[in-house]
Amino acid sequence: MKYAEVSVNAPAAQRQTFSYSIPSELTVNVGQAVYVPFGQKTIQGLVLELTDFPAFEATRDIIGIIDSQPLLSTKQILLAKWLSDYYLSPLFDALALMLPPGFERRVLTTISSTGQEFDISTLTGHQQSLLELLKQKITVRSNEIELLLGKKRASATISQLVELGLIQRTYKLERIKVKTRQVPYIRLVISSGKALEIAENLTKKAPKQASLLNLLSAQSGLISLAEAKSKANCDKTTANALIRKELAKIEYVEVRREPLSRYQIQLSQPLNLTTAQEAVFKPIQSSLRNETSGANSSVFLLHGVTASGKTEIYLQALSETVKLGKRGIALVPEIALTPQTIERFSARFPGRVAVLHSQLSLGEQFDEWQRIRKGEVDVVVGPRSALFAPQPDLGLIIIDEEHEWTYKQHEQSPRYHARDVAIKLAELTGAVVVMGSATPSVETYFHAVKGDYQLLQLPERVVPIENAPLPEVKIMDMREELKAGNRSMFSGQLKQAIEKVLLNKEQAILFLNRRGSATTIECRNCGFVIKCKRCDIPMTYHLTSNLLICHRCNNKMQPPQVCPNCLSRRIRYLGIGTEKLNEEVQLIFPQARLLRWDSDVTQAKGSHQDILNKFRNYEADILIGTQMVVKGLDLPLVTLVGVVIADTSLNLPDFRAGERTFQLLCQVAGRAGRGPSSGKVIIQTYNPEHYAIQTAAKHDYKSFYDMEINFRRQFKEPPFTQLAALIFVHTNDNRCREEAEKMAKHIGEERDSKGIPDLSIIGPAPAFVHRLRGRYHWQIILRGSNLSNFLNNLTFGQGWMIDIDPVGL
Ligand code: ADP
Ligand code: ZN
Ligand code: ZN
Repeated sequence: MKYAEVSVNAPAAQRQTFSYSIPSELTVNVGQAVYVPFGQKTIQGLVLELTDFPAFEATRDIIGIIDSQPLLSTKQILLAKWLSDYYLSPLFDALALMLPPGFERRVLTTISSTGQEFDISTLTGHQQSLLELLKQKITVRSNEIELLLGKKRASATISQLVELGLIQRTYKLERIKVKTRQVPYIRLVISSGKALEIAENLTKKAPKQASLLNLLSAQSGLISLAEAKSKANCDKTTANALIRKELAKIEYVEVRREPLSRYQIQLSQPLNLTTAQEAVFKPIQSSLRNETSGANSSVFLLHGVTASGKTEIYLQALSETVKLGKRGIALVPEIALTPQTIERFSARFPGRVAVLHSQLSLGEQFDEWQRIRKGEVDVVVGPRSALFAPQPDLGLIIIDEEHEWTYKQHEQSPRYHARDVAIKLAELTGAVVVMGSATPSVETYFHAVKGDYQLLQLPERVVPIENAPLPEVKIMDMREELKAGNRSMFSGQLKQAIEKVLLNKEQAILFLNRRGSATTIECRNCGFVIKCKRCDIPMTYHLTSNLLICHRCNNKMQPPQVCPNCLSRRIRYLGIGTEKLNEEVQLIFPQARLLRWDSDVTQAKGSHQDILNKFRNYEADILIGTQMVVKGLDLPLVTLVGVVIADTSLNLPDFRAGERTFQLLCQVAGRAGRGPSSGKVIIQTYNPEHYAIQTAAKHDYKSFYDMEINFRRQFKEPPFTQLAALIFVHTNDNRCREEAEKMAKHIGEERDSKGIPDLSIIGPAPAFVHRLRGRYHWQIILRGSNLSNFLNNLTFGQGWMIDIDPVGL
């Protein structure tokens, strides 16, 4: 093969590959990383295919090889191509998910003088000052010139001087970001016996050298330099003295950076499965052993209440996988919240677990990646990105808490959903997928009921309900509280319950979902929320314009003075934050020790664990937080969970608001009462009759699902249709709107000319987050089927972001 199809690390490449010729002295394989010329630059590329003929005639040579081993398997390449096609993302962005941490390096431009003589006086001031700078420094990075002249002017001035032949550009990749860690060791080059002898003689003259020799001989001749220095109480010069005398030498040893060394792990043995667990394990086992066939035979939805023994099923499925000579990947929604999951995997597979996530240092990530690639681990545990770990012989993919929104990447391309990618990856590799949840996403459950996936159920807790009852859930109607003259954030019952907790020296969690803060308008008298007549989602209040706007269709209206439903004037803007709540609680319960847990206070590495430990060690009475507090924590002292206001998530301008609320409340309700004393959950709301709240209070998924799926069918929302969000970003709000309107019109014309009746175009409207870091966002929602196919035939210029199957609109 003489030619290679290469995906290059340059934004301009978009979803294309480029043909390069392979010089005769190079051997190039599929999946290998190479340096290639691109314009005037040398950049990184990945070989995706070898061919006898180039796709374009004028090809250039591959410059060299970055890594002697291929970095990507053929299956990963297929997965990346699928990602790029389905999510309309640049190909290299999709491939980059699978590359070793720190692999991507930018191209840096440096400028130097050509040394040509020239009459300086004919040049402009800017040109002169650039040349002046080059006299002081031989080479200058282009960003230094930008600092000097400003971005636009710098680029123009450089171009002019290049044109005149006075300066030249050179391109270089930025420095390598991460390597294997090499630690200096000191080694005896003589026998231990000999060393002792010499040490004896040196005791007087050079006591430090003597003690280092003694240490080395006791350590069978090899010890890390750092350890030697501290143990023998000597320094570098002592070591150098021994090296000079040819008694010892320095050797570099590769040391693995180990993220799991922070955990204390106790070995655990597989448990005897209960009858219920046995019944769900059997089909998974058969599927792993390839004893079954059929379209739905390898994707499982494990629907089981909290503490029904799902994790034990994951562990045993993984054991089975390992027995069959294969390996697994276990996804968790958010790594910081899942130390227990990591602990449980490590306890069952000691030394055979790798973790991969962005809170690790780059060095740790790099080393874990290498270890995974070598096939040294049974399972990789991590957030959605762990799906792209180079795990060889993949046999099992576990997705814990399948319904969590963090499985969707929406901040950057590819905007993928880990669940859908996992199913695609399993299809390519023959792996089995096990998704678990107490509150499956409506879409996943729909597929399971339909038979696309196999539905497995664990309806009971492992420990029978009599011994660990599900907590009693009380719904507090805040409209009644208000009528009774209580204007505070707390109903009388919640206040009393907190007092009781403090008195009994127990603990309470107060939960607040802040996501919808201060955006919707709700009547405190009747609970009525102002919704868009067309879209049936709550209108969002905009302070700057004093208008209510629908973020789907851009419908606008003046905020009413009285409730359209009951004519009450007690209309209010919903939204209090955890900070405010913290203040209020402290005011009412001055003696209580409070702990706050939300994303504002948990930026630092390990801070989640710190907060959790503090609370577990009873250093606080009340934990206040956003949804983070409700994740799978075992906290035996917690006997009360209060949902301060359930309506914030209920009133999100999103068709999934009901589902989201149900999930959160179920998790909250599963929280209390883990210990011997059964717990209590109090949910405060202005919408007590809402089905999401009613069914969550009864821990009744099935009833919730039945209501919700009817609603989805009626309003033609997923899973009965597919959605795509097209978002245009620009610093000028008007330009932004115009561009979005132009695109919507264009899409309409395309639809009509192609005759696609089931495609509807909603908007454009300002996005939910309209303005972010000085840039405006307008969005168009498409509703239809096969949207990736349709969109693949359109051209999107700079500034467009495409989100297929968006969550959290
Ligand atoms: P889930 O993942 O559904 O929340 P877990 O697997 O964590 O459930 O199980 C809940 C509790 O029950 C854990 O403490 C676990 O050790 C225990 N458990 C699970 N399966 C068994 C079993 N077969 N026998 C005894 N205890 C079990
Ligand atoms: Zn009202
Ligand atoms: Zn609308």
